[in-house]
Formats: sequence, C-alpha cells, structure tokens
Amino acid sequence: MGEKADVIVIGAGIIGACTGFELAKRGYRVVNVDKLPEAGHGSTSGSCAIIRLHYSTPDGVAMAREGYYYWLDWPKYLGTVDETGLVKYINTGCLVFKTEKNHHLKQVMAALDELCVPYLEYGPQDIPKLLPLLDTSAFGPPTLPSDERFGRPTAEHVAGAIYVPESGLISDPKQSAHNVQRAAEAAGARFRFKAEVVEIRRHHNRVSGITLKDGTQIDAPVVINVAGPHSFIINRMAGVEAGMNIKTRALRQEVCHVAAPEGFDYNQLGTIISDGDIGCYSRPEVGNNILIGSEDPECDTLEYVDDPDDYNTNFTEQWTTQVMREAQRIRGLRIPSQPSGVVDLYDCSDDWIPIYDRSSLDGFYMAVGTSGNQFKNAPVVGVLMAELVEAVEGGHDHDRDPVRFSMKYTKRPCNVGFYSRLRTINPNSSFSVIG
Ligand SMILES: Cc1cc2nc3c(=O)[nH]c(=O)nc-3n(C[C@H](O)[C@H](O)[C@H](O)COP(=O)(O)OP(=O)(O)OC[C@H]3O[C@@H](n4cnc5c(N)ncnc54)[C@H](O)[C@@H]3O)c2cc1C
Repeated sequence: MGEKADVIVIGAGIIGACTGFELAKRGYRVVNVDKLPEAGHGSTSGSCAIIRLHYSTPDGVAMAREGYYYWLDWPKYLGTVDETGLVKYINTGCLVFKTEKNHHLKQVMAALDELCVPYLEYGPQDIPKLLPLLDTSAFGPPTLPSDERFGRPTAEHVAGAIYVPESGLISDPKQSAHNVQRAAEAAGARFRFKAEVVEIRRHHNRVSGITLKDGTQIDAPVVINVAGPHSFIINRMAGVEAGMNIKTRALRQEVCHVAAPEGFDYNQLGTIISDGDIGCYSRPEVGNNILIGSEDPECDTLEYVDDPDDYNTNFTEQWTTQVMREAQRIRGLRIPSQPSGVVDLYDCSDDWIPIYDRSSLDGFYMAVGTSGNQFKNAPVVGVLMAELVEAVEGGHDHDRDPVRFSMKYTKRPCNVGFYSRLRTINPNSSFSVIG
C-alpha cells in the first residue's frame, strides 16, 4: 500500500512551505516533499529577501503590499513557535532611480498611487541628502567593462529618483521557510526531505500521485509544482508544458557581497537601491556589508541553464562587472580581490511574471516562474494557491472565469487570472527582476 494525502506539494522553499501551510489550515492532509535535506535549502536560501513595494503594474504592487503586511505580522501569521527562532523584517527604505528605460517611473508611480503606497520624489540634488555617499552622475545605459564608455558619465545628473520608505528585508530567507514549515506542521502538514520526485502519475486525465526516487509512491488527487528552478522539469514530467503559453527556465545569477565604504555605517544609514542607470540593485547586509545583484541590463548575456543540478557555481567576470557598476554610484566602494556572495538560479518565466495556475492535467497545479522577485509575496501566494485549489476542485472553470479573492490586509480583489499559464506575454512587464 502506498501513502495517501489530499495534496502533495513538490518543494519546501518559502513558496512551497506557505502553500502547504494554507492548505493544511483549511483541513487538507498535506505532504510537502523536497529532494534537499531541509526547508528553504533551494533558491530561497540564495535570495536577497528584499521586501519592496515598487512594481510596474498595479497588480504587482497590490501583491507586494499584501505580502509586506504578512512579514510585519510574522508571528501572528505563523501562529506558532519555531524552536530555532523567528526571522525579522528590517526596514531600510528603497531608493529607485528614474531612467528612460523605466519611463522615469511613471507607470510605477501610478501603480503606487493606486495602492496608496507613500513615496517621495527626489531631484538629483536631493539624493545625497538621503545617502551622502551617492554619486548622482548619469552613467546609463549600462555597458560592459570592455566598452570604452564604461564608467564615464553620460550626463551630469541622473533624472531623479523615488524613495519608498516602507521597504526592507528579511533577516534570513532560509530560516523563514523553516518558520513556515513549523507552522504548517502545527496545522497538520507533513514534510518529507531527501525525497526526490521522479514521476508524476496519472489516471486518464487526472493526476493520481507521485513516485519518489527510492520507489515510494504517494497517492493524492492534487499535486502542486513549487519546484523553483526545477519547475520546468516537473512540468515536463507531468506532460503539461505543451499546454502552457508562458513557460519557465532556470536563469543563473551572481550576487556580490562586499564591504561598505570605510567609516560609513551602512547598516544604520544605507538603503535598498534599485538603479537601472547602472543596471544593479543593492541592499545593506549585516557586518557593514553590501549585497549587489544585477538588474540584467540589455548589454549582459542572460545565462539560461539546461540542467539546474549541473551549472557553474563559481563567480565569473559578471561578479567584477556588478561591483564595478555599483562603484560608479557608491563613492569609496572598494573592489575586493577575492569574490564572495551567492551564485544561484531564478525560476524565470517568459515575461518575468509568475505562473500561479492549474494545468491541462486535472488536479495538477503550479506556483512557478517566480523570476527572482516573489520571496516577498510567498505568504500571499500560499493563500492564492489554496483559493485556486479549493475553487477548481469544487468545479469552478478557472480558465474561462478566473478565480478572484479578497486579500486580507489590502482588501483588494486579487484576480488569479493575471498569473495564468495561458496569458499572452504581458507588455507592461519590465522584463527584468523588477517584475
Ligand atoms: C539570487 C536570488 C536573489 C533573489 N532576491 C530576491 C529578493 O530580494 N526579493 C524577492 O522577493 N525575491 C527574490 N528572489 C526570488 C525568491 O527567492 C524566489 O522567488 C523564492 O525563493 C522561490 O521559492 P520557491 O519555494 O518557489 O523555490 P525554491 O526555494 O527553489 O524551492 C523549490 C524546492 O523544490 C525542490 N525540488 C526541485 N525539484 C524537486 C524534485 N524533483 N523532487 C523534490 N523536490 C524538488 C528543491 O529542492 C527546492 O528546495 C531571489 C532569488 C534568487 C535566486
């Protein structure tokens, strides 16, 4: 006899854990399976865990706004203790530079206005009042270091910026998944680690369960793919990829970890910076350090990975390029000779907007394509997936009439159809990690 469950969640990263938690709270017998040894060991552990509210669509801002409140209310959301400690939300604010490419943030400001998210507009002369270390010369559009234009100002000043005070970061992304695992277990969910899914079983056009690498079979009428950068492999296993208009791929990323300029307390005074003019984002990191990630400017070659279990995990020239780019903006930033930081993978969708949806196989769902920007939304995605599963399993035709639900904090309706696998590419996307 195989094991039985009501719902199998493939993956125990932050989004898989939140999905399992919400379904367990609604009375489903849930089992989360993950091939790694602990929750959050996958791409969640490499996350910069930035909680920011600026997105280029109102739906994007609404989701982030809702997620923000869950992080503020973290102990209440969990409703239980984790013996290894709870993560903390640290507010830093976020400075976003205006560029031609982001249309001087017109869409972003309209989306923030729609959700009543406060922000301040800064002229170039005001930016150093927020962070005196910043050089306000314009360098964009970003180039490669091999280009003779690299590092040379292209205008005296950037076009300006906005500052969103309600933005910050989570102290430990991996631990956040462990927190949710404990909460889900308290609600009745089970977690199986070192359990690799090798087969999605079906009966006619309905999913019937999974088979693990050790031969164990778990039967369930609902299986949810939350496998992060492995999502495309699981979708192919289930035979549902051909029925998707938007697909996912694994995209390699390097995040640099460097010391803040000497004599400046970056942990107290620094902020998150989203800087399309130099093609980087950055944030304060404990120990007076700075994390620098890429906003994937057009001059860079995107490195998609065919096998998420076998890719280059060493730092490359990309690391140096990102630090050199950031050093254009932050005066006194030194470029260390020894690179350190994180090499990890995004689960990237064709338009950098996630897919939260059912599939062409009845009972098989997916929360995938999180494109480097959905950590912040994980608790909301958990609710969204639970609403979707309940409605569709109750007979609702989601593809014809998308499921909607009212979000708890913002009281705004969330149209799950926005995240459909059948959508055409969303032209309002930034086609970058900004979403
Ligand atoms: C470098 C980097 C920086 C980021 N920065 C931010 C940020 O600042 N802010 C933000 O909001 N978002 C950010 N993100 C995105 C965010 O971290 C992700 O969207 C989120 O962590 C994805 O969670 P997940 O649970 O979907 O996936 P994962 O954490 O990747 O979990 C998927 C799990 O599925 C398991 N799995 C895969 N295949 C199988 C199988 N066959 N059998 C069993 N288990 C399997 C894996 O082992 C893994 O544990 C960043 C991502 C990266 C990589």
